[in-house]
Amino acid sequence: MILYTLNGNGYIDIAHVDNKKGLHVYVNLTNRCPCACTFCLRQTKVMEESNTLWLSKEPNVEEVLAEFEKYDLTDFEEVVFCGFGEPLERVDDVEKIARELKKKRSDLKIRINTNGLANLIHKKDVSGQLRGCVDIVSISLNAPDKQEYLDLTRSKFGIVSYDAMLEFAKSCKEVVPSVVLSVVSILGEEKISKCQKICDDLGVTLRVRPYEE
Ligand code: SF4
Repeated sequence: MILYTLNGNGYIDIAHVDNKKGLHVYVNLTNRCPCACTFCLRQTKVMEESNTLWLSKEPNVEEVLAEFEKYDLTDFEEVVFCGFGEPLERVDDVEKIARELKKKRSDLKIRINTNGLANLIHKKDVSGQLRGCVDIVSISLNAPDKQEYLDLTRSKFGIVSYDAMLEFAKSCKEVVPSVVLSVVSILGEEKISKCQKICDDLGVTLRVRPYEE
């Protein structure tokens, strides 16, 4: 399933949605991710194989664009790169797809939901690639400090991950109109206010997502 949308607690291929007006379309590009978050559904092997977002093969740029060709882009509210892995593992392809979509409809809102570790993945600052083709970068902040972040995400890059993620947020701020850091409400008031301070210092927005079991 390459293009999907949220359907209650699950996901549905947009091909099966009758009315596509105002749809938030999610692009599922990869299962790869440098993290192994304790709360991620990828952690259970059964979910991996049975979940419809698990890709047996990554779609290439042409295949993703061919999927979009089937629909009227003016119907969509936004396009979100998100899935069962980290979309910026494929930053070059995200850029190509986003630029093609913007060529067809320049006012189409494009968002990336990311763990913010792209610069560690690619060993260079890739934020500049998002300039002019991405409107919102939403990064999972997860925690108010580096150790708690590492305990939760189990990032393969280790303790440097948190600072790298914040640095990525800072560089994205220079090139995309909106940067959002997100946490889940279960974190509690005290930690959320620490996260708010981090966001205020960075000049980005904090989004507190409701906790879903
Ligand atoms: S960063 Fe996202 S995809 Fe990767 S393990 Fe964590 S929750 Fe799962």
